Amino acid sequence: MTCALCANESKHWPTHHPADIEFPDLDGRPSQRELLLHHRLHSCPSCGYCAQDLSVAHPSADAVVHSEAYRVLTGGLGRTFAVRQYLRRVMLTDAAEDREEAVVSRLRAAWVLEAGDKTKAARHYLSEAADLMLATPPPAHWEPSGDVDWKGWRGLQRVDVLRRANRHDEALREVARVREVRTSALVERLLSFEEAAIAREDTEPRGVREGLGIGPRLGNKEPRDPLLAYLFAYYRPRLTQMERRALFLEAYDTDAGPRWATDHPQVLALLAEGKEGLARHLERRLLAEHPDTVVINRCPKCGALARTPNARQCRACPHTWRETSP
Ligand SMILES: [Zn+2]
Ligand SMILES: [Zn+2]
Repeated sequence: MTCALCANESKHWPTHHPADIEFPDLDGRPSQRELLLHHRLHSCPSCGYCAQDLSVAHPSADAVVHSEAYRVLTGGLGRTFAVRQYLRRVMLTDAAEDREEAVVSRLRAAWVLEAGDKTKAARHYLSEAADLMLATPPPAHWEPSGDVDWKGWRGLQRVDVLRRANRHDEALREVARVREVRTSALVERLLSFEEAAIAREDTEPRGVREGLGIGPRLGNKEPRDPLLAYLFAYYRPRLTQMERRALFLEAYDTDAGPRWATDHPQVLALLAEGKEGLARHLERRLLAEHPDTVVINRCPKCGALARTPNARQCRACPHTWRETSP
């Protein structure tokens, strides 16, 4: 990689995108794995410039990198390399006068400080991020992704950053403001979770999964339904994005009973008869659309689903069978 400031060539590991995205924390902190892989900063070993992409720099970066304050951060002070990098990034984004980036760099600095048990310093950066967020009127559309399930997410993130910065009154005011916008059912549920956390003066990091009450999970495990697991294992590329979503969707409890964690009409329709109904639908659709390649391999004797499309042995009964078609 060529440094945009000093043209020094340095080698850096490529940044990978994680295959499956885990829910973030409510303050926007991505999962550990994503943070390490996707949001990693690189430092130029020659001039000390740091960015996700060293080959790009704002015109103001040169002066920052050569400033006393920036260079002081390169020395000791008991800070880890990662912390120094993120604090330098804060200086660079401030000089570039990019408010959005200034918020992001402060949040990242806070997460890295927190990972090193520097809670007080982390809170300082959370509070600064909150100030910047409050100084920016929320964009009309509110969302970075436009996903109907996360309508109101950015407002929710502000609430959480304020809560974590120990600014509880302002956090509650933001809850009310976010509610004025129509939010998704998921975000509404998470706002209620925030209210409860604020009421008990909780400043700990809290995750989306915890807020929804659906317990921890890492990555996309196999679907629980055996037919869904089989279809996912062997015919994954033939599934639509909405079908994959439905496959892994979980439910959370509400006063009115369990509710699928989505507002997507298409996904809800796929799950109208639960995961088993989804499995039946997918079997019908795949067999109808790909009769030559899709095999739902069932025991001819007892009808149990075999382990693989090529298996010739039943896992439910002692029956074995020979190839029936070429
Ligand atoms: Zn450089
Ligand atoms: Zn059998």
